[in-house]
Amino acid sequence: MGVISNRQLFLNHVAQTSPAPIGLEMVKAAGIYLWDIQDKRYIDLISGFSVCNIGHSHPDVVRAVQQQAAAYMHLIVYGEFIESPQTAYAKLLTDHLPETLNCVYFTNSGAEATEGAMKLAKRVTNRSKIIAFHHAYHGSTQGALSLMGDEYFKNAFRPLLPDIHHFQYNDPAVLDAIDATTACVILETVQAESGVTAPDAGWLQAIRQACDKHCSLLILDEIQAGFGRTGTLWAFEQYGIVPDILLLGKALGGGMPLGAFIASHSLMQTLTYDPVLGHITTFGGHPVSCAAGKAALEVLLAGKLYESVREKEKLLWEQLNHPSIVSKKSAGLWMSLCFASPEYNQAVVHQCIENGLITDWFLFKPDHLRIAPPLICTREDILDICRILMSSMEEVAQKFQASHP
Ligand code: PLP
Repeated sequence: MGVISNRQLFLNHVAQTSPAPIGLEMVKAAGIYLWDIQDKRYIDLISGFSVCNIGHSHPDVVRAVQQQAAAYMHLIVYGEFIESPQTAYAKLLTDHLPETLNCVYFTNSGAEATEGAMKLAKRVTNRSKIIAFHHAYHGSTQGALSLMGDEYFKNAFRPLLPDIHHFQYNDPAVLDAIDATTACVILETVQAESGVTAPDAGWLQAIRQACDKHCSLLILDEIQAGFGRTGTLWAFEQYGIVPDILLLGKALGGGMPLGAFIASHSLMQTLTYDPVLGHITTFGGHPVSCAAGKAALEVLLAGKLYESVREKEKLLWEQLNHPSIVSKKSAGLWMSLCFASPEYNQAVVHQCIENGLITDWFLFKPDHLRIAPPLICTREDILDICRILMSSMEEVAQKFQASHP
């Protein structure tokens, strides 16, 4: 019997959730680059889906992982022993957050952060009504999935959570729906999977006021928008509001799995009593993930990587001007390019990958191409990225012209 290729093993034995996975096999990643088994180099234009904001395998993060793994890994379920990687990271995070966000519950993933936050909002308010938004993505577990406004992704998994009410993002109609029965309003500070949609500041502030008026909690999901992506450490800083609960994930772990929901100590205390152990996780806040995340945040802060984001965003807007682009949206170093159809976008994505640039589309916008490079990319890197994007767009335009004369 011949040797089975890794590709075949991947297709046979690793669960597939897409009929057409990218299926590249990488052997190394460093900075903004990935290398495949043929030693072909790619620029990571999506930061592993907004995880690698400081680039891949930063030496400080690798060192922190190695040191922590050598000291100890798993000891006991979450919240029993004092584990210094958790306490140090919680301190660093809360030092860079408003005073009311001073208590961190670490989870394994973003979806679990969403789950924990929904439970906290119900426990604090003793209410069940939750307001969420169309084109929101807060995770794939059943509670988080219930928040998604898109029927296509939800229908096969019903029944989901009851009493969840959906509104259009940026639609003032939501303001009348926030009332004394509302446990929480949950939204992404900048909505990711609709192709990077920023909120109107007035709308977000009005939601904050309505939540205050009715003692409902405001949950902001910055699992993609956080850690400098939009030009400030946290996206909510740009809108003059503070959430009651903040959701973090992705870049939080510096490349290791980690999520968190963050609230005030007094809100969080409600998970301690009646019932005791109101939220439990075995691996949440894993010491190696916390050590990695803290090292990554220190790199981000020391380099003030968010400060050059706006300048790089401007460069992207200036350079990306192909006639096949229907529209562009951005919020910092995070952009979507809309093409004529999902098929056209897919062709551009494939051409980019062929040309050494890893990109993808957005969950609810298959005709939008995703741009979210590591924040460490330089001006020259951005120019390189734009050159590859533009030549890929031109190659696809010519192919489409040839096949549809
Ligand atoms: N929230 C947002 C905005 C996300 O983009 C994601 C993941 O893509 C999640 C929540 C869920 O995070 P995870 O995949 O770690 O469960």
